[in-house]
Amino acid sequence: MSSLSRRRFLALGGSGLAAVGVSAYSLTHAAEPVSGAGANWPPTPTAVPTQPPAPTPTPRPIEPRGRVAATLLPGSDYQVDGVAIHSGQPGPRLMVLGGVHGNEPGGWFAAEAIANWEIKTGSLLVFPRVNWRAAAIVERTLPEIGDINRAYPGDPNGVPAQRIANAIIDAGREFRPELLFDLHESWVFYQERGANNGTAFIGQTVAIGGGATEGTVDRIANVVRMVNGAISTREEFLMRGAATPRPGIQIVPPNNPAPGAPRPQTPPSNGVTFNGTSSLSLGQWIPGCVPILVEMGQRDQAERRRSDLHQMLVRTTLEQSGMM
Ligand SMILES: [Zn+2]
Repeated sequence: MSSLSRRRFLALGGSGLAAVGVSAYSLTHAAEPVSGAGANWPPTPTAVPTQPPAPTPTPRPIEPRGRVAATLLPGSDYQVDGVAIHSGQPGPRLMVLGGVHGNEPGGWFAAEAIANWEIKTGSLLVFPRVNWRAAAIVERTLPEIGDINRAYPGDPNGVPAQRIANAIIDAGREFRPELLFDLHESWVFYQERGANNGTAFIGQTVAIGGGATEGTVDRIANVVRMVNGAISTREEFLMRGAATPRPGIQIVPPNNPAPGAPRPQTPPSNGVTFNGTSSLSLGQWIPGCVPILVEMGQRDQAERRRSDLHQMLVRTTLEQSGMM
């Protein structure tokens, strides 16, 4: 474990997150444009509506190029530090979570690397070690925290896992990502699971959350196809949660929902229900966001390689999106 600790230290030192000095999660907004401006403005008295018009979505202001500290639950015992990376150009907005489970280091090493990337369009919001207290001891979580990936949509007054989950949704609603990558690890590769079942046997899978359009499924399928073309046969990723086949990719069903999971509030469109309280359900609370839950197999796969494969999936997505 000493090499792990050392690399964790190095990764932290190199992440640039130590420079966080902003106390709150902050993404600046430009002033809203004056509504109603145009040929019919000012309105004649008879045209004054008795009710304010329904707000129309305004184009999101483009943040200046640069890196901005992002923080969940600032000032609390469970404060989570992250970074928003802005290209200064219009483009896609992606969010990345690492370390939701502390014993899945391939995911948080990858997220720490991603937090240092440069992008040429759009924006990227990264929280590399969401459950950093658990990551510090390489445990899935701590009893006093709870399981963040079973806690969505969370509760601002709940146990820490619920508070963190709630803060992730708040950050997502503020940032408005179109895709959210949640980088996890499983133990056994799905292809090698045999008769086994459960979340310890879903390694090397990429799951797409409920509500994804066929176009988004195609987009992710294309990423998986490209990455699979560059890695070994054993490392190849399967896709969980596409209702219809995609050429060249093995599609497997999503896991069964957790017992007692809340009923979906919105019908799914891609064969994945919103059932369950994992990040795959985030689309129902972060409008316009499709969550992608990557599960990397740990068995007989080196930690460094797992981190690299996580990064390949995210990087290829960014490249395909014109962000890198
Ligand atoms: Zn996990």
